[in-house]
Amino acid sequence: MRARTYLFAISLAGTLGLASVASAHDAFRPGAAQQVQLGKKVAAELRKQEHVLPSSDPRVQTLRRVARRILATIDEKDAIWEYSFDVIDSKEINAFALPGGATFFYTGLMDRLKTEDELAGVLGHELTHVRKQHWAYAYADSQKRNLGLSIVLMAARANQALSNLAGFTNDVVFELPFSRKHETEADDGGFDTMVAAGYNPQGLADTFDMLRKAIKDGTPPEFFSDHPDDKNRIKRIEGKIKLAGTNFPPQILIDYLGK
Ligand SMILES: [Zn+2]
Repeated sequence: MRARTYLFAISLAGTLGLASVASAHDAFRPGAAQQVQLGKKVAAELRKQEHVLPSSDPRVQTLRRVARRILATIDEKDAIWEYSFDVIDSKEINAFALPGGATFFYTGLMDRLKTEDELAGVLGHELTHVRKQHWAYAYADSQKRNLGLSIVLMAARANQALSNLAGFTNDVVFELPFSRKHETEADDGGFDTMVAAGYNPQGLADTFDMLRKAIKDGTPPEFFSDHPDDKNRIKRIEGKIKLAGTNFPPQILIDYLGK
C-alpha cells in the first residue's frame, strides 16, 4: 500500500549528503543508510503536515504492540532499519512503509480492521517492502529506464544519478510503483512473518477481501492503484494456508472495536 497524495515537494538537499557509495552490484540503488535517511526525513515532514494520533490512542498502541510481536521474530542482526509506527487521522484506507522502516497507517484502514491478525498481515506485507528494499530497486529501475543507456554507460553515470538523491522530493518516494513481483514477495513475506509471530494468515486474505468490498461500497482504497488483481492474491494466500496444512490459532479480535 502506498500513498499517492503527498505531492508537496521538499528538497532534501544537504540532508542526504551528495553522491554516496552504492552497492557494488547495482550502482543505481540507494544504499541502506540512504534509505533510512530518506525515510526519516519524509516521515518527519508527514508528522508535521498530517494529524498524527498521540501514543495514548488505543489504535497507536495496538499497532505498535502487533509490530513489536512481528519484529521480535525477524532475524536481522546486520540490518540498520529504523522502524517507527504511527497512525494518521484520515479516512483514507491506506498504509505504507517508507524506505528504511518508518511506517504509517491511516485511521480509515485501522478502523476497518477487525482482528490483530488482519493488522499483522498488512504490517508483515509493508515490513517486507522495507526489508527487501523494494523502493530502492524500483528507484534504480526507474533511473535506468529514464537514462536508456547501455550497461557500460550506466556504470559511468551511476554516481551522478545517485547524487540526484540529494534533490529528492517526497513524490519520488510515493510515486514509484512497486512491481507485481515485489507485491507478491511482500505478500509472501507478510504471510511468513505473521505465521512466525503466531498469527492466523487468514487475516491477510480477509484484509484483501475487505478492501475489495470497500471498492463496491464506493470507497476505493488508495492502495488499489498499486494492488491490482486482488482476487488472485486472495486465492494465492488461501492456497498457501491450505498447503501449510496447519491449524492456525483463532484470530484475535481487536479490543478497540466499538470506539
Ligand atoms: Zn505492497
